[in-house]
Amino acid sequence: MSKPLLTADPKAGYLAHRAEIRAAIDRVLADGRYILGPEVTAFEQEFADFHGGGHVLGVANGTEALELALRAAGVVAGDCVVTVANTASATAAAIQQVGARPVFVEIEADTMVMSPAALEAALAAPPGRVTAVVPVHLYGHPAAMPAIVELARRHGAKVIEDCAQAHGATVAGHKAGTWGDAAAYSFYPTKNLGALGDGGAVFTRDPGLAEQVRLLRQYGWRQRYVSELPGRNSRLDELQAAVLRVKLRHLDAENAARRRLAARYLKLLADGPLRLPATAADAEPVWHQFAVRTPRRDALQAHLASHDIGCGVLYPVALHHQPAYADPARHLPVTERACAEVLCLPVHPAVTTGDVDRVGEEILRWSRS
Ligand SMILES: *Cc1c(COP(=O)(O)O)cnc(C)c1O
Repeated sequence: MSKPLLTADPKAGYLAHRAEIRAAIDRVLADGRYILGPEVTAFEQEFADFHGGGHVLGVANGTEALELALRAAGVVAGDCVVTVANTASATAAAIQQVGARPVFVEIEADTMVMSPAALEAALAAPPGRVTAVVPVHLYGHPAAMPAIVELARRHGAKVIEDCAQAHGATVAGHKAGTWGDAAAYSFYPTKNLGALGDGGAVFTRDPGLAEQVRLLRQYGWRQRYVSELPGRNSRLDELQAAVLRVKLRHLDAENAARRRLAARYLKLLADGPLRLPATAADAEPVWHQFAVRTPRRDALQAHLASHDIGCGVLYPVALHHQPAYADPARHLPVTERACAEVLCLPVHPAVTTGDVDRVGEEILRWSRS
């Protein structure tokens, strides 16, 4: 009997770097500064370097990273923000926190990220003033940033990239997160770069935007006890920053491991029964998920579960069909079909090539039954 295969395994991510992580935690405990201290500052610098320079502001989680980036980019209550509906509720939640209205557009049928043509149509006939576009680099596959940035600029809208699933992905050789006006990252434990708790960050190359986020994340303070603007508390703590510094050192190697696993799945399942994930010609994904599609998704998921293979469904219900964000007049057939058919196979760094072979064989066996 092989051991159960999990869809995500944050504990394995800890154990793989146990000694380094424990040393980092001990360092913080001994230092005595626990909020916005030297570890956060060092992590912000290192994560900015990872992008080839810029500004990083650590915040409490990915949702607030998006929210603060939108606010700092000038989005205000009543504005429209164009995004996609096959994403975490967090994407829409952040837009609503600002008081703006999410406008959901269709995705590309092959890569399942925002369709530039759909964005263009939405910008040509907007339901209100569109001040920002939030492409989501879903499953680690970056959206078509050159086209999206061009369209948004032409309409005077800012671009805030949702990078929660795309730490290290590239488009045309440039990192996801460096294309737009700002990017929001989540360090939720299951992400490619995951903390041991909540965490998030805003990346930007715009010093003015960075300064706004810096104020917004802590009561509007530039100077202690002087609130220049209505801010809030959204801080990254020292323990998480210290852990993230360790994890960041291994991110490229772990993304490479994910790529090897994905390549193996693609080869094994090439002639199989599933629609396999497509990669855009100029994109280098980081395989946060390996998302296959089949109209018999639920049956396949049940079959794999009965063989101790855990799979995720990201996301079973599109946001325009969820009570909080319901937009019943909107028809997004490509998105809705993706939500009905998608199944995410295990692809995290604790998965072995043997595991991939087992999953592949089980899928082929299921298709013959
Ligand atoms: C995880 C995630 C978020 C939100 O991150 P939290 O840290 O959980 O708030 C936002 N967008 C996407 C696409 C995500 O996957």
